[in-house]
Amino acid sequence: MYDYDLLVVGSANADLVIGVERRPAAGETVLGSDLAVHPGGKGANQAVAAARLGARTALLARVGDDAYGRLLLDSQRAAGVDTVGVLVGGAPTGVALITVDPSGDNSIVVSPGANGRLTPQDVRTAASLFQASRVVSAQLEIPLETVEETVRSLAPGSRFVLNPSPPRPLPTSLLAACDPLIVNEHEAKVLLGDTTVGDDPAHWARLLLARGPRSVVVTLGAEGALVASAQGVTHVPAVPVDAVDTTGAGDAFTAALAWRLGQGDELADAAAFAARVGAVAVTRAGAQDSYPTAAEVAAPGS
Ligand code: ADP
Repeated sequence: MYDYDLLVVGSANADLVIGVERRPAAGETVLGSDLAVHPGGKGANQAVAAARLGARTALLARVGDDAYGRLLLDSQRAAGVDTVGVLVGGAPTGVALITVDPSGDNSIVVSPGANGRLTPQDVRTAASLFQASRVVSAQLEIPLETVEETVRSLAPGSRFVLNPSPPRPLPTSLLAACDPLIVNEHEAKVLLGDTTVGDDPAHWARLLLARGPRSVVVTLGAEGALVASAQGVTHVPAVPVDAVDTTGAGDAFTAALAWRLGQGDELADAAAFAARVGAVAVTRAGAQDSYPTAAEVAAPGS
């Protein structure tokens, strides 16, 4: 028996968000709205998304001993995430500076802060969390060696899901542990690392699968997602909605998919559920604030 449906190992950031008419080009200054501060970071987002859906969720992360760190702990607890694995101190809480335009597209700068101090030793110290978790998910806003230690710490029979964001070349041993590797179009291209991969996401999915993951998901925004495994490549359509803010959509998708896989769904079914979660998330402002409950995913028009 597992105590947790999902253990998220990853980042926690304060998102400092300003709405703009147009995102600035290099060297340009634009005026924006009043500042809004939201809890964020890919790890914290995934944990809140899963817990809000009803998954028993724990977060292994590091925040600073500061006001933003307390904001993050409070938001995790409010969503029902077990924060026993959230370490405090060592550096300021990570911060993301986000501009979002009227079409919902965003640009983001991240100061990793305490996220950069989440160490392999921190992972080893949390061994009991790994033993208690059915599925473990990670991203790349923490040191790569910490993600590699995460893979070494998996309990026998538990499943590992990676969203390699921000993207960078990955060691073969890490790729081989992913089931699935979840990438958006940008991440797919960076991981494939060459300019000759073309524009066909199904081709990217097959190329990525050949690098060693047991399965691959390529998310395509309003076009939905592709799932790829030894059985082939399948398109999972998006749910048509009017997007207002796509911040954190990929994190909600990943968390939902990871949870459903742990509940026994096949990959395509888990991705279809995750697409419904992502669709609700993009109709609402913010990242964590936009994440639905399971009842809201089920209700038409939510
Ligand atoms: P990321 O946020 O990592 O760039 P995507 O933008 O691909 O990820 O979004 C992840 C998933 O969320 C998509 O696969 C899709 O299911 C859903 N989604 C994102 N944008 C939209 C949209 N405009 N309309 C409907 N669904 C969306």
